[in-house]
Amino acid sequence: MATPKEMLTTWDEVQFGAVLPAFEDPEHKKRSKFHSYNYTVADWRVEKPVFNRELCIDCDFCWVSCPDSCFLVEEVLNKRGKKQAKIVGINYNLCKGCAVCVEVCPTPIKSLLMFPEYMDNEEALKQWPKKD
Ligand code: SF4
Ligand code: SF4
Repeated sequence: MATPKEMLTTWDEVQFGAVLPAFEDPEHKKRSKFHSYNYTVADWRVEKPVFNRELCIDCDFCWVSCPDSCFLVEEVLNKRGKKQAKIVGINYNLCKGCAVCVEVCPTPIKSLLMFPEYMDNEEALKQWPKKD
């Protein structure tokens, strides 16, 4: 049997029971029409998370924690040659603005912050808190 350490592989190979419950055949699993897999609640959002690539350390906590699988990732190799998910953005067609991603982001100055829905992302990035 694999040890917990052996079960923690790369982001796209998380093993059954290690961190996330695995879905069997996600395409055909029966879900209510209101399940987030079938139904977008993005138009409920009054605030949106904005992502700051400059501060992100690619810990993937937001990717794991987001209830609507909103995080867009690119597969890259880290310094040790291991596959890693690089966060590249947020799918606003799925995001409901719950702010869970902001809560879990561990960087000293958050790499994700909530801003009013109407605000342009470039403007939000200009308003980001700076180091003292
Ligand atoms: S605000 Fe909620 S739904 Fe939107 S990206 Fe963050 S965790 Fe996902
Ligand atoms: S939780 Fe924060 S630091 Fe970690 S990957 Fe997401 S945005 Fe980047």
